[in-house]
Amino acid sequence: MKGDIVLEFMDGRREEATMSRPFLADENEIRVVRKDTGRNHTYLLTKISCVCMRPEDNPIKFHDIEHSKEEIILATDKLYICVVPKNQPYKNGFYGLSVDAASPHKLIFFTTHGVKARQETRLIGEILEEKGVITHFSVEQVLEEQRRLREQRLGEILSEKHDLSQSNIDKAIDTARKEGKASPRMKVGEILIEAGLVTHEQVEFALASQDLGKKKKIGTLLVEKGFITETHLLEALAVKFRLPFIDLDSVKPPSARALAALPADVVHKYQVLPLEEDEKRLVVATSEPTDYTIPDSLRFYTKRRIDLVVATSMQISAAILKHYPKAGYGIDDLLSDMSTDAPVIDQQPQEADISESDSQIVTLVGRILMDAYSKGASDIHFEPGRRGQALQVRYRIDGICRVVNQIPMSFKRAVISRIKIMANLDITERRKPQSGKIVLWSQNNQIEYRVEIVPTTGENEDAVLRILHSSEPLPLEQMGFSENNLKAFRRILSQPYGIILCVGPTGSGKTTTLHSALKYRNTPDVKIWTIEDPVEITQAGLRQVQVQYKIGLTFPEALRSFLRADPDIIMIGEMRDAETAKTAIEASLTGHLVLSTLHTNSAPETINRLIEMGMDTFNFADALLGVLAQRLARKLCDRCREPYHPSRQEYDRLVSIYGPDSFEKHHGHAYSDTLTLMKKKGCPSCDGSGYKGRVAIHELLVSSDGIKHLIRRNAPNDELKEQALREGMRTLLMEGVQKVFQGLTDISQILQVCRYETE
Ligand SMILES: [Zn+2]
Repeated sequence: MKGDIVLEFMDGRREEATMSRPFLADENEIRVVRKDTGRNHTYLLTKISCVCMRPEDNPIKFHDIEHSKEEIILATDKLYICVVPKNQPYKNGFYGLSVDAASPHKLIFFTTHGVKARQETRLIGEILEEKGVITHFSVEQVLEEQRRLREQRLGEILSEKHDLSQSNIDKAIDTARKEGKASPRMKVGEILIEAGLVTHEQVEFALASQDLGKKKKIGTLLVEKGFITETHLLEALAVKFRLPFIDLDSVKPPSARALAALPADVVHKYQVLPLEEDEKRLVVATSEPTDYTIPDSLRFYTKRRIDLVVATSMQISAAILKHYPKAGYGIDDLLSDMSTDAPVIDQQPQEADISESDSQIVTLVGRILMDAYSKGASDIHFEPGRRGQALQVRYRIDGICRVVNQIPMSFKRAVISRIKIMANLDITERRKPQSGKIVLWSQNNQIEYRVEIVPTTGENEDAVLRILHSSEPLPLEQMGFSENNLKAFRRILSQPYGIILCVGPTGSGKTTTLHSALKYRNTPDVKIWTIEDPVEITQAGLRQVQVQYKIGLTFPEALRSFLRADPDIIMIGEMRDAETAKTAIEASLTGHLVLSTLHTNSAPETINRLIEMGMDTFNFADALLGVLAQRLARKLCDRCREPYHPSRQEYDRLVSIYGPDSFEKHHGHAYSDTLTLMKKKGCPSCDGSGYKGRVAIHELLVSSDGIKHLIRRNAPNDELKEQALREGMRTLLMEGVQKVFQGLTDISQILQVCRYETE
């Protein structure tokens, strides 16, 4: 009959009726004559989830329009499968053409609020293939893997239910395959029936009891295998679920009202980020578009419609940490939550059920990364214990490692896998070291974590993350130079050409100092090139290049290129080999100022080292402007350090470390009853250690005629040092003792960082 329709209401009711005037998708109501009563009715569209019509009654064109086949789930959980044209212009909903051949009311208008979820029937693999992200072959390969995993699960179920040991099952499969009785495609169930271990019924039963929800999804497997990234997968899922995929870094930040719409614990629990809102709806970003329970739960909290958008888990967790920082939901809370949820651990620890994509793991790892950054750590160490022992997390702060967390051992593999996924590494590779990097954002600051995965005993893997703060350099005055050193260092930095070296062990702040030096010369009239590994500090005005060994962009390679690129100043991150050192010295002799670093202990020793490396002594003597040796000693905590009066004995020891003759010559502090030094105590601000931050100690050797003469005749270390001391150089130890008298640190810290000289 013309104009007859079926209405489905939000409360699940169904009503047959006839349209009393044509239905228009942009109107907010529909006028009908009810079939049962024959009376006129006007229904608000907000009460209706869908209107089912005869296609001939509505002139919607379905041909020649791009469309997709979709499963549409109503708020009432009723399912429709329809062909849906793309880009429909209606504000209240969309049309679909049902594939149900039996129904005359095949043209259906779905209201926006009436639809709980919709997804394309195309498989995720097909979408990825169509987008050109992966090949058909990779999809096939992963489908095979998926099949294998499901079979493995079947074996597990059978072994549990029927008291079969896994080794018996493995043996049966092995034997069958070796003897050629079973083709690789033959199912495990069949092999086991064949071997007489189980009956056909038992296999059927086990198959039926397989928990569908625990099956690994194809998309997850593709990511694990490294065929696609999490971003690829989420983009494809967004297509499948007809949701927008957004880059959280490039959309406008969430409104305050949207952020307030969900409580912090809910945001943390579901790992979602509210973005926009009005009275009726809340737009929320998720990285789990397949999980219907998330919008359901959020609807419960907000009593509003939830419109999902898809974003990567990393961007979401970083944004949550930024917008809900003091949620009272720290790492410790997370851990205590997790331990209560953790499966009971028998002799055989079970780890397989906790996945790296579990929202708690995602949150936990994100939290630790941001926490370490905010505490000023330089490195994070994830160290899984042996069987049954926890995963220990240590931070290195101010050069010292300390334990900050113990994560239950049942989560250790998931935590390491999560780190690997974030760093785009292969999570199936557990025997070889891997390196990668993770980039997070905090208040518009980019934080880079250099990830090193190292396989350790007990089938474990450690993860060590170095935190690279992409920070601004400090001005030279704030680098802790003594007045004399600052003056002399500025003088050599102002030279038009020559070479200046900054030396010391790893972690002594050489690069930081060189960047401050460059900042001093960084003006628009000077061209500065740098080659670094990695670029940790960035400066506007410098042209900075990152070493990339994979493509052959090494220190010498970059240096040669710089020389053809009109430089005034060149900074070389490190002189690792003779070739780099030679090229650097030649560059400095042809009118360029060259700055670099070297792993040597003291300033005089550096000269001998370079000559040993084969530098021409005459060239080197001409080129050298100065060598700055540097150390970082732990600084006494400003909040709790305590003044005290040292004994005469203690004073004498300091003087003897300085060198009594030099001490007198340099007018060192005299002993008196009022002489005061500082000692450590310990307070919450310094975690009870008594030290916080670090203080730089310098030894600056400035090249002079006397020094150049000694270099040309390849004089030994001692002679160079004597000459430099005569000309006013202060050794690291002298500077260190000076900092003790200034109350900045104590002598134990000085001896520790300068220990080579006391041997
Ligand atoms: Zn303190």
